[in-house]
Amino acid sequence: MNRNNLISLSKSIGNNLDLTQGAGGNTSVKDGKVMWVKASGYCLQDAGVKNIFVPVNYPGILRRLEKGQDNPVEPEIIKENHGETLRPSIETTLHALMPHRYVIHVHSVNVLAKAVVRKGEEVFHKLLNGIKWSWIPYARPGVPLTKEVQRATQLDPDVLVLANHGLVLGGDTAEEAENLLNDIERRLNCFRRETPAISMQEINSLTEGTEYKPSKYDLVHSLAFDQVALEIVGKGSLYPDHVVFLGPGPMPTMKTYEAQDYLSLSFGNTSQYHQAIIVVGYGVIIHKSLSEGAEVMLHCLINTLLRIQSHDDLRYLTKEEEAELMGWDAEKYRKKIQQ
Ligand SMILES: [Zn+2]
Repeated sequence: MNRNNLISLSKSIGNNLDLTQGAGGNTSVKDGKVMWVKASGYCLQDAGVKNIFVPVNYPGILRRLEKGQDNPVEPEIIKENHGETLRPSIETTLHALMPHRYVIHVHSVNVLAKAVVRKGEEVFHKLLNGIKWSWIPYARPGVPLTKEVQRATQLDPDVLVLANHGLVLGGDTAEEAENLLNDIERRLNCFRRETPAISMQEINSLTEGTEYKPSKYDLVHSLAFDQVALEIVGKGSLYPDHVVFLGPGPMPTMKTYEAQDYLSLSFGNTSQYHQAIIVVGYGVIIHKSLSEGAEVMLHCLINTLLRIQSHDDLRYLTKEEEAELMGWDAEKYRKKIQQ
């Protein structure tokens, strides 16, 4: 029963691009000592269609966290009888630390648009009045974020706002958790700027016969028309999934003639091409090898940026933070960025 509730909850969240994008976001339910948590790399929208949940012994995870172990999840995976075992999400520890039966973690664009602001904590303080919540300063997903959350959950919050990342919340029933999520979304819902429709004919003629194609999402093309968004992507990245899927640093932005020149180049077997290019006033083109998971991150990016105002003081991820997300040391980062 609990797992059926988890499946329907996961599907409804997973089908909403304002809440989760691709394999981002995760859910869990605790049943006795077992916690079922979404597997790494799987999409919430596939709940019920595929097996996307992994059972773990969560009191065991909590004991290992108390002892300060760096790998508290892997030894606590409960092996199932039939064949391969999925790998639990890197965010499993957040689910274990929340005491609620149902826990939801989403990269909501309404949350992101405010959680990337320097004074985000003050903004949420006003908007989440009456809810038991905690602000979690930015930390890399994995051990550093777990440590921050471990500190915060001692105050027993129902909601965690992860700076430059997203939202975690819990409820004792699936309905309670979903109602809380809907309530927060209503409180945070912000206006999304509109941009002019693009000319598909023009953008198609630009990429015809090249290794690039226009993004399939209409919204993604808004990146090429919105001044605030263009300025932000020219400066850097704001949250982990952007860096992991689309790479660190500013996104390449070109004028039409620059894009024409660039597209006429042959890259042979090298992997040193741009994954996505913003052609100002035209649209967004992506390399044909770009994964579905990365393209949906472009959707998340513009869906967030169109909700940010020009006067918002944003906290970008630092070069060091980007490097640690890529698993790079500082030197490798410097070289990559210069390519
Ligand atoms: Zn996350």
